[in-house]
Amino acid sequence: MKILKGIATAPGIVRGTTCFYSNEIEDTLPHYTVDAQQIPKEINRVKEAFEHARQEMKQVLKTAETQLDKSAVEIFNMHLSILNDPSLLESISEFIKERKVNAEHAVNDIFEQYIKKYEIKSEHFRELIHDFVDTRNRLLHSFNIETGKFKCPVGIRGPVIVAAKRLTPSMVLSIPRKNVLAFVSEEGGFTSHATILARSHGVPIIFGIQVEKELDCGMEVIVDGSAGKVIIAPDRKTEEYYARKMQGREKKKDFCEVRKSLSSRTKSGKRIKLKLNISTPGEFSFAKELVHDGVGLLRTEFLFMERNRPPTEEEQYRMYKRILDENGDKPVVVRVLDIGSDKMPLYFKISGIMNLDLGLRGAMAVEKFPHIYLTQMKALLRANVSSNLCLLYPMVSDLNDLKTFRNVLSAAKRALKKEKVNIDAMKIKEGVMIETPAAAMMVETLLEKVDFVNIGSNDLLQYTLATSRGSTEVEERYHILHPALLKMIEMIAREGKKAGKEVCLCGEIASFEEFYPLLLKIGLKSFSVAASKFSDLKCELLHLQQLRDKKLITEFYKLESKEQIDEYFKRFI
Ligand code: PEP
Ligand code: MG
Repeated sequence: MKILKGIATAPGIVRGTTCFYSNEIEDTLPHYTVDAQQIPKEINRVKEAFEHARQEMKQVLKTAETQLDKSAVEIFNMHLSILNDPSLLESISEFIKERKVNAEHAVNDIFEQYIKKYEIKSEHFRELIHDFVDTRNRLLHSFNIETGKFKCPVGIRGPVIVAAKRLTPSMVLSIPRKNVLAFVSEEGGFTSHATILARSHGVPIIFGIQVEKELDCGMEVIVDGSAGKVIIAPDRKTEEYYARKMQGREKKKDFCEVRKSLSSRTKSGKRIKLKLNISTPGEFSFAKELVHDGVGLLRTEFLFMERNRPPTEEEQYRMYKRILDENGDKPVVVRVLDIGSDKMPLYFKISGIMNLDLGLRGAMAVEKFPHIYLTQMKALLRANVSSNLCLLYPMVSDLNDLKTFRNVLSAAKRALKKEKVNIDAMKIKEGVMIETPAAAMMVETLLEKVDFVNIGSNDLLQYTLATSRGSTEVEERYHILHPALLKMIEMIAREGKKAGKEVCLCGEIASFEEFYPLLLKIGLKSFSVAASKFSDLKCELLHLQQLRDKKLITEFYKLESKEQIDEYFKRFI
């Protein structure tokens, strides 16, 4: 038996056969030189390939639109904008002229240059690499070059555990859902486009596994998404352990199915607020079928990304109105645009030396781009017809930051008054994200001025540990529930209780059921999780016996390493 330990990205347990999916260009990519007279012909071949890829892309987009797969639509729009970029075609043509090489060679080399350029930039730009890889592959496909395929026939017959160096959006979308048991990759990140799409398959995902070194096509393995483990040739005891777990899960599912119309609670009947994080429009459709306690975090960044200019007030109004109306009887917490390294629209012109994680965030971004925030607030105020809007301000560290956001809100109200637009401004609740150590330390003061707080554990962890989030190296080193983070969360929950105001945990750690005994014990009662995770968690809560053991918390605070923390949570898995 061999256990490969990676980074748990989406939970679930499956047993199955591995199959490699490769996005790498096969050795068959032709490289040859051409003489001067053939240059125009090669450039023409490139133009034709671009046109072919564009037509294909439009077709794919149409399908994604009819399937109402909004996140796929956004991603494919991004790919189309790469194909429509005239400077790209120009660089490839220049390359052919200068080097006198064939079209395929030039396309591949220029894309490689872009990919390398983005590899050394921040996380957000690195995310673009996948978009470039996908677009390049589509172009090469137009030259009849094989890109992206299963390396063994079992993958075509499926379902399999898909192993890949890295997941790309088109790869995730081109493999039929019924053929995927799990995704296992070497590179990845919790918030990458590909991961967002892969999560909607509802299968376990693990990254940080040396797939090429450790796995072969056709291997029988167990994937434990919650523990981030791939188990090769499990021994009998492990086999039995997982067989029992899988059986247990099926039983739990049947039990929960008949109770799905009830609100969320633990086994002992303690009511827990369970809300939804909405990060892409595609998740709206999920939300309608679930009995939830409202939207706990609407990440509005999706409206601003993958386009050439910010969305207009009207566009935003339509989107916000739709989601506020659809949840009319429930609160919808809408986070005001939160820019950062992982979510930076390209039309925000920011100097190259600015550190996108430690510079232009929260209130500072409001000061730099006041019109963008004013437009957003106006659209939100207009859309609040059902009076269920809760405004959430990101990256607030103190009262001064809060004031900056409030000033924009007041300016938006004034502007609408001038335009004679009636708004229901009285009923709007305001809250702040607690995602910097400063905000955690100031929470008592902040709670005096707002109606609720959301704990953004993703950022709170990165700023507490001084390590960037979403990078494989960092996630290999630290546990996502570090004792320092839990201490802060405990303090925030205590202050919330004292102030009689809601404290909702909306970071990724809220998606892991094994953390709940501890999270409930420190006083949290409200959580917000991705729509794809919601039903599983609600079901797990129904089976959760609250623990009376006081030592649970003190014991956790004494843990010294990631390994010890992993071991600690095993008892709850
Ligand atoms: C967080 O930081 O935990 C959070 C919920 O916000 P985001 O992941 O969008 O930064
Ligand atoms: Mg955050």
